[in-house]
Amino acid sequence: MTDKQIRLGRPVLEAGKDSVRLTVDLQMDGQNKLYFEVAKDKADYLATDRLDAFVIMVLRHALLTGSDIYCDAPVTSDLLYMLNESLIPTLARKIDRFSDIKVHAEPCAPFGGTEVITGYSGGVDSLYTLSRHHGKTTANDEKANLKLDGVACFDAGVYEEFGEARTRMYETALSQTQKIASELGLGCIGVRCNIQDIVDEHYLSVGSYRLIACAMVISRRVGTFLLSGAYEFSSFSIDVDSSFYYELLLADILTTKAFRVYISGGVQKRIEKIAYLAKQGPEIRRLLHVCVHDPLPGSQNCGVCSKCIRTELAMEGLGVLDLFSEAFPLDVYRQHHDEIVAKANMASRNQHMAEAIGAMKDRGFVNSESIERKIRGGKAASAVINAHKEELLKKIKEKGLI
Ligand SMILES: [Zn+2]
Repeated sequence: MTDKQIRLGRPVLEAGKDSVRLTVDLQMDGQNKLYFEVAKDKADYLATDRLDAFVIMVLRHALLTGSDIYCDAPVTSDLLYMLNESLIPTLARKIDRFSDIKVHAEPCAPFGGTEVITGYSGGVDSLYTLSRHHGKTTANDEKANLKLDGVACFDAGVYEEFGEARTRMYETALSQTQKIASELGLGCIGVRCNIQDIVDEHYLSVGSYRLIACAMVISRRVGTFLLSGAYEFSSFSIDVDSSFYYELLLADILTTKAFRVYISGGVQKRIEKIAYLAKQGPEIRRLLHVCVHDPLPGSQNCGVCSKCIRTELAMEGLGVLDLFSEAFPLDVYRQHHDEIVAKANMASRNQHMAEAIGAMKDRGFVNSESIERKIRGGKAASAVINAHKEELLKKIKEKGLI
């Protein structure tokens, strides 16, 4: 028990022109309204009678500020039990900056729908989940009960923009995700939450909490959420700065008897997922979208940003680069290949980049002597890349790719 308090009011449905919001009065560092928003025709997805998703949205801030959470509406009994008896004490013991707080709420019976969904961004992890859990399954398939009914587009702080710019990004992402889902015969739902406007948390530190909360708020129709793992389970650690390193724990506890979270791709390295995608048909391969210049699913990869380069190197290392020619402007990559490899070597402390460089070396693609020379002249190599950046972007724009 602590002196500080966070209070969540009763959820209220508010209808807008095209959307509905499930809103609560939130007392947390002042008075605010915390809401989740979905399209009007998806209103029946919202779990309106409980505060499960709202509690998860404010949980990390509560732990960090040592604030008990008081709820004016119920929380599902088994979630409440596992929060207070397992997750909160464990995190508080492991992370010095977290306190052993308590969630105070009336327990209510578990309730959940039957749909299986996953969050979709078009990146390697989410496309891997989509392609593994989409399509026909047979009765004896171990994934038979985990076949996707739909994909979701979540906006809970992942976009770095604010205000109107963020709304435009979300709406574009949702519309492009809807198009992709419809082509694959899947449903699509968008969920927005304004938590980032209330508390400015670094997305890496809280992303897994927020993704699970967005899925949980639509649990009246969704019973299973496939969370695309960003890191291997073997990298597990309770890290105050990255919830993605302990999402195995979060996925186990932030559930109820009627709403389950499964992590997909928690055993595969990023490069193994790329190898898997290379074996899929063109209808899947062309969807791969990793670009940081235009992070919206369904957009064109630029081919020269850090994530594009990392992915292209991995594909080249695997010998499958040409299979992704619809998704990446490969002529640009090839034209500046030596500089790109040199730059990648300098960034290989990043786990995913190291995997890509490792694959390149395994296949004898990297001449270590020439690369060593380039690394020694690292600043010069960076300068070459930066000098080319404008020219490359101009070329890509001329082609109408971005
Ligand atoms: Zn890019």
